Amino acid sequence: MELKNIKDLSLEQLENEIVNLGEKKFRAKQIFKWIHSGIRDFNEMTDISIELREKIKSKFDLCIYNIIDKQVSKDGSVKYLFELPDKNTIETVIMRYKYGNTICVSTQIGCKMGCKFCASSKVRFIRSLTAGEIVEQVLCATKDLEQRISNVVYMGIGEPFDNYDNVIKSIKLLNSPYGLNIGGRHISVSTCGLVPKILEFADEGIQSTLSISLHAPNDKIRNEMMPISKKYDIIELINACKTYIQKTNRRVTFEYAMVNEVNDTKECAIQLADLLKGMLCHVNLIPVNKIENGIYVKSDIKRIDEFREELHKRGITVTVRRELGSDIEAACGQLRRDRLKEDKI
Ligand code: SF4
Repeated sequence: MELKNIKDLSLEQLENEIVNLGEKKFRAKQIFKWIHSGIRDFNEMTDISIELREKIKSKFDLCIYNIIDKQVSKDGSVKYLFELPDKNTIETVIMRYKYGNTICVSTQIGCKMGCKFCASSKVRFIRSLTAGEIVEQVLCATKDLEQRISNVVYMGIGEPFDNYDNVIKSIKLLNSPYGLNIGGRHISVSTCGLVPKILEFADEGIQSTLSISLHAPNDKIRNEMMPISKKYDIIELINACKTYIQKTNRRVTFEYAMVNEVNDTKECAIQLADLLKGMLCHVNLIPVNKIENGIYVKSDIKRIDEFREELHKRGITVTVRRELGSDIEAACGQLRRDRLKEDKI
């Protein structure tokens, strides 16, 4: 019988499973706590009887990852290449901030979205990750770092809203007071703009931050950079964000990768300010990491500063993201892609 990943189960689902095994319901809470404390073997659950451990082992596995590559940047950020039990690989990045460790998790193995500036778009999409597989990235990195991870951003490989149900479930698992207990406000989900899912997310009642990978102030430039924009145009996208803000009263973050002479002109800044005028939002300018054989080059500091100033002048809240891990191939998908190339897969 194929073993199921026990990390995919909510506490409620685990309670049902434990009752079905003929055990008391309260055992599930104990087991859930153990699982989300990062145990690597069911035998580490010392307050659970050997008999129950054996029953659990006959139905479930712990979906433990192996670290097959780890790069540590001069600035302290860490990039992991994890091997899953099915031998697929995914990347996860840890960024160090004054307020704590932030993990950037992957949600899919590969990505279908094809954004032109992204290394992940150059590798084949294989499958989406389950909720437990998303959570295991946090558990495995926590174990290796021997430090708490306080913030989670869904900005690694994959489009989170293309794997919507598993992403929502993983947020709830991370949120659980019996698990890692990471508050919703410390979790941020990023989408390249799947409009129907943004609207669905508005109704979830989740406290997490919504980030939109916008990267352009109009359809012409966005179409060139992000194929998804041909499906949902920029006005539809902005309207969905307005609905989200109206329903949740939460601020939306717009991510904007600064690409030299593509989207970083004064005219672009003016258009962007007009587009976002009056919205409860924040713009995060990102100096893009260089992609080998990529067609885009990152904007220089002067252009980024001028762009930021133009937005600021027009009343838009804007920051420039600190470049982290530029010495460790921290563009998303790069480590995995390079490994695949080495293995000639
Ligand atoms: S930027 Fe995100 S959505 Fe776009 S191809 Fe890369 S991983 Fe996919």
